[in-house]
Amino acid sequence: MKKLFLSLVLIFGISYQLVPQTSSETDIIYRVDVSNYQDDLFHVNVFVSGLTQENNIYNFASTAPGTYSIMDFGRFVKSFKAYDGEGNELSTEKISTNSWEITHAEKLSKLVYDVEDTFDAEYTEHKVLPMAGTGIEDDFIVINTFGVFGYFEGLQSNPSRVKVKYNPDWTVGTALLPDEDGYYVAETFDRLADSPFIIGELSYASTKVNEMEVEVYVYCADSTINADSVLVAADEILQAAGKYIGYSPVSHYDFLFCFTGIETFQRNNFSAAGALEHSYSSLYVQPGMSGISQEVRNEMAHEFLHILTPLNLHSNVIQPFNFVVPTASEHIWLYEGVTEWSSDIMQMRAGLISIDEYLSIISEKLTFNDRFDQDISLSEMSLNAYNAHMINEFLNFYNRGAVTAAMLDIRLLELSNGTTGLREVFLELLRRYGKDKPFPEDEFFEVFVDMTYPEIEQFINDYILGAEPLPYVEYMEKLGFRYVGEVPSEDIRPTMGFALARNENGELMTLNVSDEGKKNGLEEGDVVLKVLGEEFNMQTARSIIHEVWAMNVGDTCNIVIKRDDAEMELNVILMQRMDRHVFKEMENITERQKFLRDAWSRNL
Ligand SMILES: [Zn+2]
Repeated sequence: MKKLFLSLVLIFGISYQLVPQTSSETDIIYRVDVSNYQDDLFHVNVFVSGLTQENNIYNFASTAPGTYSIMDFGRFVKSFKAYDGEGNELSTEKISTNSWEITHAEKLSKLVYDVEDTFDAEYTEHKVLPMAGTGIEDDFIVINTFGVFGYFEGLQSNPSRVKVKYNPDWTVGTALLPDEDGYYVAETFDRLADSPFIIGELSYASTKVNEMEVEVYVYCADSTINADSVLVAADEILQAAGKYIGYSPVSHYDFLFCFTGIETFQRNNFSAAGALEHSYSSLYVQPGMSGISQEVRNEMAHEFLHILTPLNLHSNVIQPFNFVVPTASEHIWLYEGVTEWSSDIMQMRAGLISIDEYLSIISEKLTFNDRFDQDISLSEMSLNAYNAHMINEFLNFYNRGAVTAAMLDIRLLELSNGTTGLREVFLELLRRYGKDKPFPEDEFFEVFVDMTYPEIEQFINDYILGAEPLPYVEYMEKLGFRYVGEVPSEDIRPTMGFALARNENGELMTLNVSDEGKKNGLEEGDVVLKVLGEEFNMQTARSIIHEVWAMNVGDTCNIVIKRDDAEMELNVILMQRMDRHVFKEMENITERQKFLRDAWSRNL
């Protein structure tokens, strides 16, 4: 089934001005006008009839599935009016950040409101990440539907239809299917919220992978990446996913890419980029790079595999989803950690990456894990996901969370004598539960132990509920891999002993400062102002870093940093790059190691 057509251009004429007929009493029709993008607002009309007093509150989302963050989209609503069938205004009252009460809901015929996009709105608290936000730019528009449309109290499971008015020269990409009148149809608010749109000068490509129709829409500011190049990567990733899952979990899937360019990122002061998963699509908003890197491929694999969890395997705490009150589940180790592990190991098992490349991924994840708080358990990270202090720690689900899943896989393979790994247990859970059959939040660990081995209870207690150091040295040895704490890297470019990240002010700061970097006087979070006498910022960083790379280990590099508003000058000694948490092939591996390695390296 093909959901959208590249040449689909909706023609808006006089009919757009007419009040549409709702097909059932509480069939909700949304119309959003973004044709005049210069005013930077989503102009929304909501048509509805047959409401009762129970439905007198219109809620905007505070959070949305997969984001694990408070976004409070009510903050971006600029005007809000309600009308009856004769066009008389009904009184409304804003009763909380995200909710409006309509006094005579039974008379309501139309809501009219404007919403500002999150990309360039001025606000400081609870920053909305671009892939979870809304953007109106000169040449593209991102609509995360939960950021523009709300739902009436009690009607979260009612169907709705959406019409979008936009520049007719542009293309729209979304996994929703339009009806013959050009309305996109969603069976529930959850389905609507699960269906983002990108609109703009998009390139388009499609293919069929096994039984699945796959479409790719790409906006790329500098045209270095187009839908055809994404499709090549998508095809390989989806083939690997097909082997991993063993069946086509959905009949159609869309990859929606926005490569915005560095300039857009800086102007909007985004602190992070990435992707957000949905049931029939995934949305990527990032600055873009030359070509489709392995990083983008990994991201595509990760987002696609979210179809398994949390989209189909999730706890009763997040299904039905509470858009109004952010409610944390304890099982993000599964939703994010197991998904991240699956997305890497499935590529190794399909031959897209080698065993060595897979081992380097584990090493990188362990190296990243070192900079996070080691005393917080995955379960604690999950339960506190919505707390501000957990925002940075959350990233460790992609590191420690994924390595924990990798260790659980090895333990299961060992206990089952090579017959059942984590993938097999995971697929069995998917057979047991499903989109509309959530697992019990509080009993899930017991369910998992019952399905596997009593020893797994200890694993869960130590590494998911507890924060014991992961047993990677011992476990990887079971597969015939020897652990080496640190080796000189084959990469001969010298290093200053830190990575770079943007802070909330858009400045470049030190991240992951190594022991050597610390000896040179650097600390985590120092803002780098000058390197080799040159101003250091997003524009100049690349060329300056290349100058540093051309120097030698032992050379001195003068830098100026800012720490707690004080500037200091440091003479940093350039160092040999080191690889940490390295796994190497053991010599003379035993039959048992060989046997477990073999089981580990394929989908059983
Ligand atoms: Zn994820």
